[in-house]
Amino acid sequence: MLIEYPLPLPPFDLVEVETGMWNLYDSEEGYVDFHVNRADVQKWINEGFMEITVCPYCQSLFDIDTYRNENENEIPNWGYVWSCPKCAHWQMYWWQRHHNDPMTDSVETLEYHIISKVRSFDGKIPDGVDSEIAQALTRDPGLWHHLTPRRFELLVASIFKANYRHSEVLHVGGPDDGGVDVLFVDSGNRQWLIQAKCRQSPRVVEGVTTLRNLLGTMFLEDALYGIVASTADHFSYRAREVAQRASKRGRVIRLLDKGKLHRMIGPVLPRGAEKDVLDIILAEVRMD
Ligand SMILES: [Zn+2]
Repeated sequence: MLIEYPLPLPPFDLVEVETGMWNLYDSEEGYVDFHVNRADVQKWINEGFMEITVCPYCQSLFDIDTYRNENENEIPNWGYVWSCPKCAHWQMYWWQRHHNDPMTDSVETLEYHIISKVRSFDGKIPDGVDSEIAQALTRDPGLWHHLTPRRFELLVASIFKANYRHSEVLHVGGPDDGGVDVLFVDSGNRQWLIQAKCRQSPRVVEGVTTLRNLLGTMFLEDALYGIVASTADHFSYRAREVAQRASKRGRVIRLLDKGKLHRMIGPVLPRGAEKDVLDIILAEVRMD
């Protein structure tokens, strides 16, 4: 059965239940509420969190990993990690016993419910690392049109770096970029001039002028390979026609519209954050 919890997520990303006491945290704000007994939180944890099978953002099936400490000499602890293979969203449940007071034998239980949090962008994208921006884009493709031209150029460079491991990528865009924003040298040592066009409207069609500019630059630079990466919905008929005519004259031009770029951002997504959190928890367990 496919189960997802409702969006938006609650305004905290860590719930700690210490022997029946509920503490809610927010990794950006610090804390939300301590020692509470909130029915809405309990309901969410009990009815949604543990049963979930589908990523609430992209509806992909979660991968679910189980962790169990089998060492008899240590205090028992175990947990689950749910991770989305597509958009990198994850959540974690952790249960452990711990000695609260070394003088007595009293043992308490601790439970953690943790959900990954993406920085909120409010429809605008500030400067940030590309992996965060990529994650925001997988959840809200409309954000492609809110990137600044420079931000988009850097992201295009990251997309090529992440998709083509054995390549060299150089961001060369600037006021005097001469129509080239990114230089991409593939594993076959072919040099591609990439022109990045960040269109602010989702309905824009990339026209023939962009192609002519790139071809002009390729001619001047003696380059055989070119790419137009654009957030436009698609390329015009005339633009595609020019690309075809260029190929008959030995110049290869690839046209990447928003849909194609969107399918290339997977390798830019952040990976492994849940493993870092797990390492921290396990380190604390061992110190108990
Ligand atoms: Zn997902």
